[in-house]
Amino acid sequence: MSRRVLIAGNWKMNGSSADLDFFQALECRTDVDVLVCLPATLIAKAATLTAQSEIKIGGQDCHAAPKGAHTGDLSAAMLADVGAQYVITGHSERRADHGETDDGVRAKSEAAQAAGLVPVICVGESQDDREAGRHIEIVTAQLAGSLPAEGPFIIAYEPVWAIGTGLTARAEDIAEMHAAIRAALPIGEAVQILYGGSVKPKNAAEILALEDVDGALVGGASLEAESFNAIIASA
Ligand code: PEP
Repeated sequence: MSRRVLIAGNWKMNGSSADLDFFQALECRTDVDVLVCLPATLIAKAATLTAQSEIKIGGQDCHAAPKGAHTGDLSAAMLADVGAQYVITGHSERRADHGETDDGVRAKSEAAQAAGLVPVICVGESQDDREAGRHIEIVTAQLAGSLPAEGPFIIAYEPVWAIGTGLTARAEDIAEMHAAIRAALPIGEAVQILYGGSVKPKNAAEILALEDVDGALVGGASLEAESFNAIIASA
């Protein structure tokens, strides 16, 4: 089955209105989908700026409830209301900083789907898990706990030790994990599986050429149009 390639940026807690000229500088291709997951404060403006383009806008988290007494949180419907089409769920920084569990990630992902968003569900092992040879077991357990019963969803495999560190998993390790993830999914052939973890212009082509890698989730290198364009170009 042919799946489209998706290059997704994650700006994390970076960026202000002045940085949205990024979108004018983006060089998209018809054969590659481009998504930028922004701080919630920038979603509405970015969605307006990109409305006439194929660029897709996403959030970085949502609450599992549709509304209610959750001060400071945002529901998936709120993100959709201002133009988001996707939302990242279960990023390792949220699992670490906010104690998010697989059950909670599944609830958020289901809430995203209910609001018409596609969740980009993140999984990945720690350095200790990899060194102990438990990486496949850990990631398949995260998948079993975090995935909604049905699509649509996207998986991002992000080894925790490779995020923001400049360390990238070896090609053979990425290929092994992506194959294991696909085999573990009931609708595996249809699901886009992204790799994330220090994807840069210099390593993107090798990673994106791997079987079962359908794109990348890019943090640091998505903050500048020049480096993000280079990654899109190498897809
Ligand atoms: C991420 O934020 O999901 C990520 C992979 O970051 P970086 O590319 O900076 O490692």
